[in-house]
Amino acid sequence: MFKLLTWTWRGFQTITPLSRRITRSAASSTLKFANKVAVLTGSTNGIGLACARRLAQEGAHVVICSRKKDNVDKAVAMLQGEGLSVTGTVCHVGKAEDRERLVTTALEHNKGVNFLVCVAGVNPLVRSTMGTSEQIWDKILEVNVKAPALLLKQLLPHMENRGQSSVILVSSVVAYNPTVELGVYNISKTAILGLTKTLAKELAPKNIRVNCIAPGLIQTDFIKKISEEPAAWNIIKEREAIQREGVPEDCSGLVSFLCSPDAAYISGETIAVAGFSPHL
Ligand code: NAP
Repeated sequence: MFKLLTWTWRGFQTITPLSRRITRSAASSTLKFANKVAVLTGSTNGIGLACARRLAQEGAHVVICSRKKDNVDKAVAMLQGEGLSVTGTVCHVGKAEDRERLVTTALEHNKGVNFLVCVAGVNPLVRSTMGTSEQIWDKILEVNVKAPALLLKQLLPHMENRGQSSVILVSSVVAYNPTVELGVYNISKTAILGLTKTLAKELAPKNIRVNCIAPGLIQTDFIKKISEEPAAWNIIKEREAIQREGVPEDCSGLVSFLCSPDAAYISGETIAVAGFSPHL
């Protein structure tokens, strides 16, 4: 790093130029999410990782998690290597004890949580609803629908009275226009629209906003699996109005906005990030 030799009251010292001397803490205190804590599920890859990076770049301490320890360690090391304030733990959102560990990890930082971003979601099979076993029904609904609500219940006492608390759920455009091949996954993502509206009403008296994003086709490993089914891929692709696939950063900008004071009077909304409107 470039340094200057200069006189101070302690005698000659090497100092870094002013622009570099602004310490991380001084710089981060001017950021919009300074002193905020964000918990993100499914955040070691794809959309969740992009959201974690964005909120941390804007000053939040972020707590990331996913099922595999290697993925958590790698993502934490990468984000910390970028100078961001990040901790992480293993958490399969469908397991109560893992969710409890996630809450404990989050509280280690600041005794409270401002933002919960529930990104983790699964689609273990590309198959019609009628071709889906009860076991797969349970898995999809447990991870995609029940887990965000149960995690929020565990975090709620630590989100109340934080002044600026916000929950973001992740649905999909298939919630509006189901793709037959995605079967129960469509249904789980439609249920998230209902969960968003219900929680928004329930938590408004506590000044906690609940909103949702509905991604279209976003380039991640998740869609790679779906795209192995040509029919599913083509149906999704035909819907796109803006002729490109989305990238995780298309979602993270929206999540940042929804968490921010600019969205202070927005709750119960779902916004598509899809290059088209599923309502038209
Ligand atoms: P991705 O790149 O495959 O990332 C998924 C992340 O979730 C990984 O970090 C994964 O890590 C973690 N994860 C998976 N199952 C989990 C579980 N049970 N508990 C905790 N973490 C879990 O996927 P993505 O595209 O970012 O998708 C994330 C969300 O966006 C999903 O809810 C999906 O439905 C939604 N979505 C995606 C698209 C798209 O086009 N990509 C479109 C609409 C909606 P581990 O393997 O270590 O657990």
